[in-house]
Amino acid sequence: MNNILYIVIPCYNEEEVLPETAKRLKVKMNSLIEKRKISPESRVVMVNDGSKDKTWPIISALHEEDLLFSGINLSRNRGHQNALLAGLMTVKDLADAVISMDADLQDDINAIDEMVDKFLDGCDIVYGVRSKRTTDSFFKRFTAESFYRLMNAMGANTVFNHADYRLMSKRALEGLAQFKEVNLFLRGIVPMIGYRTDTVTYERSERFAGESKYPLKKMVAFAMEGITSLSVKPIRLITGLGFVVFMVSIIMLIYIFVRFCMGATVAGWASVAVSVWAIGGLMLLSIGVVGEYIGKIYLESKARPRFIIEQFLNESHEKGGEEK
Ligand code: UDP
Ligand code: MG
Repeated sequence: MNNILYIVIPCYNEEEVLPETAKRLKVKMNSLIEKRKISPESRVVMVNDGSKDKTWPIISALHEEDLLFSGINLSRNRGHQNALLAGLMTVKDLADAVISMDADLQDDINAIDEMVDKFLDGCDIVYGVRSKRTTDSFFKRFTAESFYRLMNAMGANTVFNHADYRLMSKRALEGLAQFKEVNLFLRGIVPMIGYRTDTVTYERSERFAGESKYPLKKMVAFAMEGITSLSVKPIRLITGLGFVVFMVSIIMLIYIFVRFCMGATVAGWASVAVSVWAIGGLMLLSIGVVGEYIGKIYLESKARPRFIIEQFLNESHEKGGEEK
């Protein structure tokens, strides 16, 4: 049997949770190996996304202690999506299937069994979907759910209430590797890969320890990034809006002309002031949205690397503690 499973975990300042996450994953992996569902070559890869705390020393120590744990150290903080991509692209040639999950134990580890079963049944992508969000604060739930709705309304199809907890087969990862864009938004791109997909529902628990690394500012940036990298609908909306506003001004013009012919002058400056401000605001907004896309083109044309790997701890100690 040859089903090598890698679990990729992006970690940013997660010293408080990592030991517990590692402990639980070890139990889970060993039970899967015992049941002969996955190969003993399977690994848990923690990607240190430029943490400022002891995250990397913890990862190195775990690797020293047990070969089940591998580590990737990024040269600096590049954000969750890039850290995850770094992990996926690094292990894609080593694994038959890869599961991505967060470090904070919010993604139920027990869903891994079902994901693996579905993979063994021939699925290429298995999405972990949250059944309910009662443990998240009202604010988090509201913003997150609005995000999924907005994304879909804007034509960027994502799986509702699915974050980045998913299993992907080797060929699905190879498909992903062919998306060369710099502004890669995993949640929107993965459904584009195709192949046989399925979902596994799980209850999202509270963060085991530490605080969310996604404050509102990062969430807004994430949503903007997602929408503008997947859809041109906002630009079309602006075109539509411009057309409507133009039509309204034509109607106003006709009205003013008719009043003028009837000998009545148009009174009041308030309406004029309001329209100037309204149009000005709309124009600034529109320029902003268009600018967002131009910025994307600028970044794509530079094609800068999304991450730089400083160190990859993998392989067996017997081979002389090989590191590359
Ligand atoms: N994360 C990361 N780099 C960052 C921010 C977050 O690798 O710059 C990781 C973090 O360690 C965690 C995952 O991304 O494993 C999700 O972050 P978090 O749990 O804080 O987000 P939330 O669940 O609150 O949306
Ligand atoms: Mg979390």
